[in-house]
Amino acid sequence: MGTVNSDLRVVGAGIGGLSLALAHTRPPRGLGRAERRLVIQEKTPVLSEVGAGLQLGPNAVRHLFSWGLASELRSVAFEPQRLIIHSLLNGEILAQLPLAEQGRILNQYGAPYLTLRRADLQQILLQAVNKTGATDLQLNQAWQPEAMAGSCVIGADGLWSSVRASVWPEAQAPKATGHVAWRALVSQKALPPAWRSDSVRVWLGPRCHVVAYPVAAGEQLNIVAIANQKDLQAAASTTATWDQDADLNGVRTFLLPKTPAALRSLLEAVPAWRQWPLFDRPPVRSAADMVRGGVALLGDAAHPMRPYFAQGAAMAIEDAAELTDALSECSVELALSRYAQRRWERCARVQSASERNGRIFHASGPFGWVQKARDASLRLFGPQLMDPAWLYGGGPGLLQSPPLN
Ligand SMILES: Cc1cc2nc3c(=O)[nH]c(=O)nc-3n(C[C@H](O)[C@H](O)[C@H](O)COP(=O)(O)OP(=O)(O)OC[C@H]3O[C@@H](n4cnc5c(N)ncnc54)[C@H](O)[C@@H]3O)c2cc1C
Repeated sequence: MGTVNSDLRVVGAGIGGLSLALAHTRPPRGLGRAERRLVIQEKTPVLSEVGAGLQLGPNAVRHLFSWGLASELRSVAFEPQRLIIHSLLNGEILAQLPLAEQGRILNQYGAPYLTLRRADLQQILLQAVNKTGATDLQLNQAWQPEAMAGSCVIGADGLWSSVRASVWPEAQAPKATGHVAWRALVSQKALPPAWRSDSVRVWLGPRCHVVAYPVAAGEQLNIVAIANQKDLQAAASTTATWDQDADLNGVRTFLLPKTPAALRSLLEAVPAWRQWPLFDRPPVRSAADMVRGGVALLGDAAHPMRPYFAQGAAMAIEDAAELTDALSECSVELALSRYAQRRWERCARVQSASERNGRIFHASGPFGWVQKARDASLRLFGPQLMDPAWLYGGGPGLLQSPPLN
């Protein structure tokens, strides 16, 4: 069933906007291709290197593979062997989950778990979109509310969404979480051999944690350290900028003294950090938070989340797949509302789970009893806790789908 209709305006060529443009050119789950032309307006003149690394669970990779990107992704991404959780205080391994090892994630969910640079994912999506020739991508075009009259708009313009601010004027601005992330990419070859890694490794400490995983086909290690900002002696900036040169005082005075000597040597080997103050919004409460009239929100514009579940980009990719399905079924207005109905609860659940994970990761308190309880649970039930079937399975029926690689 093909659907011929007017142009659809998308604001933002980030992971969500480009995923939507690409998905739109692929026939969704057995249906015909929608013939509607997409116009994407992106405010930046060049799609830049923001965002360092991303982990992509099989729930997102499954969609990217189904859009024909398997070989491109495999050439730049890395398939980590295991997810390993350590105590930041003494380096002890608390729990491990096989990922590529024993084909665990691929066999269970029909797609692998990948790690890659955000810029690589964005470039792959951009090239695939350009190749189809079906999308009018307008760079250096900041969206203005006046441009909306009479057209349907998808706001895929990220955390500080102008579309949201204009169409949901009652919504509050994103809230500072009080957490700050430092991110770095280092060449694996430049690291001492003991720190070269083929896995995702996480170190949990009181009010902070560190994550490291390979990207760039294993050539680089992406390192992220996140701390509660009020603990920092030199208060880090709370401005809304998404990517800043790091004030290294935070890393030096707060994080390094807490880390065991071994991990300290990895953090000290990092030549330059970038810094992100983290913001979020409360979980979406209903479909009405994602659609109003002829306007729908997608990705971070709709449901920004803390990075403790590594699912922000994945949710934007899932949104794109679901909206594409809806657009192939009916008129645009009805499709936007069907999309919001189908997505809001899952997105809200992932937003809440991300916040809860942050509290668990950063557990602190008198006598360390909360950390001790967390560590004991991880030792006992680690693999079950680290393998969220409700999330990676993606919905009814998908657990049974055949591998897509
Ligand atoms: C520390 C950290 C770690 C993370 N790790 C992970 C991870 O491991 N896995 C994961 O899945 N996610 C992760 N995320 C989240 C992920 O980066 C985001 O959820 C994802 O990039 C959101 O995609 P998006 O397309 O919605 O928004 P964005 O990628 O922010 O894109 C929005 C686009 O809209 C454009 N734009 C904005 N305003 C306008 C305007 N007025 N007019 C036109 N264009 C406009 C912007 O220039 C941009 O290109 C992490 C985030 C952080 C901060």
